Amino acid sequence: MAELVDARDSKSRGGNTVSVRVRLPAPYTKKAVYFMNADCIFCKIIDKKAQATIIAENDDCMVIKDIAPKAPIHYLIIPKKHLINLNELSAKDAQLARSMLLLAQKVSAQLGTIPFKFVINNGKEAGQIVFHMHAHFLSGRNDHLSV
Ligand code: AMP
Ligand code: ZN
Repeated sequence: MAELVDARDSKSRGGNTVSVRVRLPAPYTKKAVYFMNADCIFCKIIDKKAQATIIAENDDCMVIKDIAPKAPIHYLIIPKKHLINLNELSAKDAQLARSMLLLAQKVSAQLGTIPFKFVINNGKEAGQIVFHMHAHFLSGRNDHLSV
């Protein structure tokens, strides 16, 4: 269970939710204290308050099966930090971004170094429906492997 550190209102940033800052228990992270959004399904999955099929995990990210797969293999690589999308990523998130890429590589290797597509829908108009940054790992069908 995550430990509450503090809470803040996101209205000033154009949102209408309250974010809480929590310290995640081991083994999720050794050092990080991340902002999580109380209404966010991916934050709930990371906090193990909502169910998901977990494929892999490191200090910064979790890989889960997409609940409505669009390819034979469809995983989501989700940072444990609540960022709305790539626009919120900053230089201090370099480790988190690196972790996302390395987890994709690791999952591919575990599956036999398969070809895959790594997709980020950045913003509503780009098809983003869950506003917690994540990447799609898609594989197993050729028509998903050409842009
Ligand atoms: P995006 O359109 O990039 O925001 O993608 C969001 C993805 O999250 C979609 O492919 C959904 O099927 C998936 N999704 C939504 N809720 C869940 C959930 N509870 N567990 C797993 N995947 C989910
Ligand atoms: Zn979230």
